[in-house]
Amino acid sequence: MRAQLQTSSPSGVLRTTNDIASMTLDEITSLMQTLGEKPFRAKQIFGWLHNKMSPSWDEMTDLSKQLRDKLRRFPVSSAPSVVNTSASHNQKPETHQFHNTSKYLFAMADDNIIESVYMGYNYGGSVCVSSQVGCRMGCAFCASGLNGFERNLTAGEMCGQVYGIKKLRDDVSRVVVMGGGEPLDNFDNVVRFYRILTHEAGLNISGRHVTVSTCGMAPRIYDLSALKLQLTLAISLHAPDDETRLKLMPIAKAYPVNQLISAAKHYGDATKRRVTIEYAMIGDVNDSEAQAFALAKLLKGGLFHVNLIPINPVKEKAFKPSPRERVDRFAAKLNGMGMETTVRRSLGGDINAACGQLRNTRLSITDKAQVIT
Ligand code: SF4
Repeated sequence: MRAQLQTSSPSGVLRTTNDIASMTLDEITSLMQTLGEKPFRAKQIFGWLHNKMSPSWDEMTDLSKQLRDKLRRFPVSSAPSVVNTSASHNQKPETHQFHNTSKYLFAMADDNIIESVYMGYNYGGSVCVSSQVGCRMGCAFCASGLNGFERNLTAGEMCGQVYGIKKLRDDVSRVVVMGGGEPLDNFDNVVRFYRILTHEAGLNISGRHVTVSTCGMAPRIYDLSALKLQLTLAISLHAPDDETRLKLMPIAKAYPVNQLISAAKHYGDATKRRVTIEYAMIGDVNDSEAQAFALAKLLKGGLFHVNLIPINPVKEKAFKPSPRERVDRFAAKLNGMGMETTVRRSLGGDINAACGQLRNTRLSITDKAQVIT
């Protein structure tokens, strides 16, 4: 028989998964019942997969050999393998907050390559995971879509990125879904990933320590609002008006700025969670004082926090970073108009840390990963 369970997606469509590493505890419990096994077996299996971070039936030694043999016919998505790492040490001593960034390239079972980033802070480590292989959103400043869209990642494959890094860096306590891919374009798997990651029988990461960053799929923001999860929603806005935004992000055509901000305000109202507005500072494109003024006006009355991001240059793209004094002026204008604003340090610019860049470097060396274990 196939280990295929039906689960309800937020859009009301019944979805299925047959990958045990992508199943919630409730789903594994149903599977055990279907197999005539005791329900407590599900918690043991879930614990092995998501607390001990072992994707192998052989290691689940508190299950009888007979049960393990019975379960072997059900797939457990294999953990991605690290094929390359690079570290950055651009600590800003004056802040005493930021320690280091490491990027990890993972090879998937089908030889696709994805990237994840570890960022170490005084308060703990944060892992930025990919949700898709490639991306179909085509943002003009981003390297992730340069090789097109390949496929969605499963929840198990997203967990695998966190676990792969946590095994090397024990302090991981926060997760951001914003590496390669658009998370809300892979909605069901990302929601599954959140539920697994935050489950007390797994890694038990606080829901508030999970951030999902979208380029602005407005209808899916409403779907997410309905679930009332504790996660932090971040929206890559990058421009306060449609004309500028369209130059940067094709999705602006489908969901104009006003529609997107209405969805974001709805998310804030529904969840009482503050929404982060990500704004990449691109020289002479979106960094004028007039644009800062327009942005503050647009966000007025909502539960927002603006995060300005000095961009890393992408060699295949023409955009240049805003000079630091322009970033500071932009931030001062927003703060002066009552909009809480921070400037993110440009993390890991020396190691190709812009979205998708490390993956592209690797792909230019070889189309398929040579797995180094
Ligand atoms: S910024 Fe995000 S949504 Fe846009 S192309 Fe890159 S990965 Fe895709």
